[in-house]
Amino acid sequence: FLSRLHSTEASAQKVDSRFKGHDMLAPFTAGWQTTDLNPLIIDRSEGSYVYDIDGRKYLDSLAGLWCTSLGGNEPRLVAAATKQLNTLPFYHSFWNRTTRPSLDLAKELLEMFTARKMGKVFFVNSGSEANDTQVKLVWYYNNALGRPNKKKFIARSKAYHGSTLISASLTGLPALHQKFDIPAPFVLHTDCPHYWRYHLPGETEEEFSTRLAKNLEDLIIKEGPETIAAFIAEPVMGAGGVIPPPATYFEKIQAVVKKYDILFVADEVICAFGRLGTMFGCDKYNIKPDLVSLAKALSSGYMPIGAVIVSPEVSDVIHSQSNKLGSFSHGFTYSGHPVACAVAIETLKIYKERNIVEKVNSISSRFQDGLKAFSDSPIVGEIRGTGLILGTEFVDNKSPNDPFPPEWGVGAYFGAECQKNGMLVRVAGDTIMMSPPFMMSPQEVDELISIYGKALKATEERVKELKAQ
Ligand code: PMP
Repeated sequence: FLSRLHSTEASAQKVDSRFKGHDMLAPFTAGWQTTDLNPLIIDRSEGSYVYDIDGRKYLDSLAGLWCTSLGGNEPRLVAAATKQLNTLPFYHSFWNRTTRPSLDLAKELLEMFTARKMGKVFFVNSGSEANDTQVKLVWYYNNALGRPNKKKFIARSKAYHGSTLISASLTGLPALHQKFDIPAPFVLHTDCPHYWRYHLPGETEEEFSTRLAKNLEDLIIKEGPETIAAFIAEPVMGAGGVIPPPATYFEKIQAVVKKYDILFVADEVICAFGRLGTMFGCDKYNIKPDLVSLAKALSSGYMPIGAVIVSPEVSDVIHSQSNKLGSFSHGFTYSGHPVACAVAIETLKIYKERNIVEKVNSISSRFQDGLKAFSDSPIVGEIRGTGLILGTEFVDNKSPNDPFPPEWGVGAYFGAECQKNGMLVRVAGDTIMMSPPFMMSPQEVDELISIYGKALKATEERVKELKAQ
């Protein structure tokens, strides 16, 4: 396959094979990659850049995995971790024992989330654990209310909600299901709200949203509203290709969900803390969720931590139920880990002090407009995004219905060209994703655009050659 060849070309610059065929069963990595190629080994980071073990410098256009919002070497986060490690490196939060950092962080998150009044916070270690926890909370809640049949979750095609059994079931990407015997039967997937790809001829964005809301309602009625517990959505879909919602989408979807007494779970794992140019994705799209999942930028990726914010209505029911049942028997050894919480508290303090939302807004038009200016490229179908998140989809003839042959590896070629020119991007088939750190300077944004432009030119040439063959 050419995509394999392109990756091989990108790694051909590597100086040796020290770690080829290494000992890790690596996440989201094909076996042949670990045996045929040298891995890219990142050694250190500084601001918006990371360096590999041979000292090569790369602009980190994905902020690690959509998470290192404050860049690579924020000394205050290191100091917060060190201080907590020196005071209390670990204590848990089971059996009504807990630690100050976890209490302080819970309080802070409830104050920060203002899209609606929330009740309690449950700590986890990752986005996947947050979404698994959502399912358990919702089931517990409906059991407590005497509605044992109200258990199904509706997620969306192309959603990404994690890779544990339950969160991968919620995820709407076939690659996460195939060979794993999932999705679990209680998960249903409704339409992906990608206007460019799925709208009917002549249909406006608003009409598209109306149709999707109607499809959701039809699905609920077909399944029986008494069986549907919750709807889960990312405000802007991330790993499924960076897909912002079409106009009026969430307004119409929320009306349907409310009508049938279905809880709304907002998966803010990527969108929260400024990425979209608002503190939370819910603020941007006027979403009033019952439950919210957080992770990633909660600690700027410096420590593994996630959180679930729960509405007072749901937390009150859980509270009164566990008064009857005894303990609420869910949690992890590291729920509310004091070092992770201390780093998260400092991260949130920095967001406030540096007016992170304003900071994102001060560079986001440069980023969005600079990249969207490449939309006329003959190999680009759509460049889409908002704030500091952007997706590019390569297609033939500017049409969503004309993908390039997968064996051409157009996306992989573009990714390899970016890497050659000193930038790391996320490649998924022929879709490219970027979500740079919030603290990028305008000059770094210009550098990102310039490398993107060079890689695009080279990829256009490559496609021309392939077509001529
Ligand atoms: N939800 C969303 C929206 C995500 O983007 C991700 C991770 N990319 C997850 C959940 C899962 O998070 P984790 O990898 O920390 O389990």
